[in-house]
Amino acid sequence: MNINAQIEAQTIRHPSGETLQELSVSGAGCASCVSKIETALKNVPGVTHAEMNFAARTVTVSGSAAQDVLVTAVEAAGYGAELLQHQDEAVTQDEKEKADQTYYRHLIRNTVIALSLGVPLMLFGMMGGDMSVSTGPRRIAWLAIGILTLGVMLFPGRHFFVGAWKSLLNHSANMDTLIALGTGTAWLYSMIVVLFPTLVPEMARHVYFEATAMIIGLISLGLALETRARGKTSEAIKRLIGLQPKTARVIRNQMEVDIPIAEVQVGDLVRARPGEKIPVDGNVVEGTSAVDESMLSGEPMPLEKAIGDELAAGTINKSGTVLFKATRVGKHTALAQIINMVKRAQNSKPPIGRLADVISAYFVPAIMIIAVLSALAWLNFGPAPALAFAMVSATTVLIIACPCALGLATPMSVMVGVGKAAESGVLIRNGEALQTASKITTMVLDKTGTITEGTPTVTDIVLTSDYSEAEVLQFAAALESGSEHPLALSILESARARDIRWQNVQNFQAIAGHGVEGQNQDGISLLFGNEKLMHERSVVIGNHLTKAELLASEARTPMFLAANGELIAIIAVADPIKEDSVQAITRLKRGGVRVVMLTGDNQATAAAVAMRAGVSEFFAEVLPEDKVKKITELQASGEIVGMTGDGINDAPALAMADVGFAIGTGTDVAIESADITLMRGSLHGLADAIAVSKATLRNIKQNLFGAFVYNTAGVPIAAGLLYPFFGILLSPVVAGAAMAFSSLTVVSNANRLRLFKPGEH
Ligand code: ADP
Ligand code: MG
Repeated sequence: MNINAQIEAQTIRHPSGETLQELSVSGAGCASCVSKIETALKNVPGVTHAEMNFAARTVTVSGSAAQDVLVTAVEAAGYGAELLQHQDEAVTQDEKEKADQTYYRHLIRNTVIALSLGVPLMLFGMMGGDMSVSTGPRRIAWLAIGILTLGVMLFPGRHFFVGAWKSLLNHSANMDTLIALGTGTAWLYSMIVVLFPTLVPEMARHVYFEATAMIIGLISLGLALETRARGKTSEAIKRLIGLQPKTARVIRNQMEVDIPIAEVQVGDLVRARPGEKIPVDGNVVEGTSAVDESMLSGEPMPLEKAIGDELAAGTINKSGTVLFKATRVGKHTALAQIINMVKRAQNSKPPIGRLADVISAYFVPAIMIIAVLSALAWLNFGPAPALAFAMVSATTVLIIACPCALGLATPMSVMVGVGKAAESGVLIRNGEALQTASKITTMVLDKTGTITEGTPTVTDIVLTSDYSEAEVLQFAAALESGSEHPLALSILESARARDIRWQNVQNFQAIAGHGVEGQNQDGISLLFGNEKLMHERSVVIGNHLTKAELLASEARTPMFLAANGELIAIIAVADPIKEDSVQAITRLKRGGVRVVMLTGDNQATAAAVAMRAGVSEFFAEVLPEDKVKKITELQASGEIVGMTGDGINDAPALAMADVGFAIGTGTDVAIESADITLMRGSLHGLADAIAVSKATLRNIKQNLFGAFVYNTAGVPIAAGLLYPFFGILLSPVVAGAAMAFSSLTVVSNANRLRLFKPGEH
């Protein structure tokens, strides 16, 4: 199969002339930063699109802006940015992992430092220790603890305060602002109590240093756990990268030498021995072998490769030794392109994620207002010590409302889902396709090449005049050598098999959805195609129609050949149904999807194929331009339409459908127009894609629900709404723990998706 062409077609689908750049962003602690960074980049002249993946802390930017301008824009918004170079995926991945490791250790160290102050203080308070400033020696002890707490804020808690400061300079607020305000307020209040006790009513002379230390410790712990879990979501990518061998055995100066993969050049002769991985893409020039391509296509059966056949990097040479000529190396190999595409899809955002980002952007300012309001309420209507209660409630509101988990909810699941799909040979172009696939109610399938193999063979030649079989085939072949239609290829194949020679026709014309015409070297006008074409050109078929109908009822496609306006033969071809199409279609139907077949072929043949394939609804004799119309009609009747096709004539319909699926073995044009590519020719990929999509979306919704419950249900409790009724007021420490726990829940739920299996084949 031609993996290269497919993937290249996919990657260039983006508007021409535009480049895609990926930045890695630092200092984005919170989901509310996402919209801010995206907006900052979109405001750069020349940028057409910017999309941030909060889980990976990367932004993909499309447009024509220069790299340093992009970096400056992100920095001006208060964050750090660095351009990601896609040189060597393995190196990039390694670097990313190392950076994550360092960050993880840093966060754990921060956690330990902050908690080793916070935990003893908290325990002391819980065991009835006196947390108030009553006597002189106590004041000195608390002063010492206050200074230690300041140390925790300045070192382990440093990046929250730096982030909050940067954000302030930009006249905005983010999660860091909430944490800095929350912990800062608790510390400041406590310090005032210690230094100027007389300013505070006696009952309110209570210190909250433990809250500051605990919150910084717990939030650092949450971030650490998130960092760790993030690594797991890129498993699919790691697996793909791992397919690439490190060295290749090439022929240089008539000697076979092992060289690093990066040094292999196009045109090099490469040797692959049994059991070895193919290092780069190429064409076999010597030897034969069976090659396992399952890692790229999900196709479990090894494929026989002989001279001239294509080999793809990352596949495994099973049986023979082959010599091949490198045609694509480095980032141009099919494997590298797949990796790139999967990464891009993992970084793209489904609509549901965009919603979460918008919510988080409004969240932070709203929370700050709520915190102030609740403090005012406690001051005016609360019991004594009103000041202390006001401080505690404001701090708790600030801490519990951090919309961290909300930002993680979508990207974490998308990364896992897209990777899962890739593992079963389903390449999803973006988050939107991933989301919409779960909602498909009708799946439209093209017949030729989608349900069927797409490699028809001539089965019958019915002569209707004095021309011989050889002459008839010669005429047909002369016509069809100008066509790329699968039907044309079957005619040429059959003529070649009989050693028939022909000369191409003059004035060749293909009549879409009908057939072909032209004049042969003897000046005979030839017309070849379906019944409709014959009618339109007034070719009399007469009682030969019965024969044609009989052939059609056996799922064969009869075609009529006319010479100078007289019918001279009916040639029938059969295109076998792919062996697993029936099963795959059953799977779709069982999943509640309405399956419809669409074909340009005649009514009777279509009916026979549909019946054999287990499809009860079909539209036959549909002209290529009408395929789109069928899709819009279905959409107008309220269906969410998936369209699956392989041919050039399917491309507009693929683009029009809510989700277009291209058969990986089909034409590049179809693949370019589709949202999802089935690397394996099998229709099982459709049910797999829908299953993965549903599972991912369910997972995202669970995440969003979880995050939302923590963030919103927590706020009123933190503000003290339950206090008048039940006497419940959360402590800031509990809020800090809830926050860390909410990130952890989302992250582990997303990772649960890794265990998902799309279904049995
Ligand atoms: P499909 O949906 O099966 O890809 P098309 O729309 O391409 O079908 O073609 C519809 C019908 O037109 C075919 O079934 C065939 O009868 C006729 N036809 C199209 N192209 C050719 C051709 N090159 N040679 C002969 N017949 C053709
Ligand atoms: Mg087709």
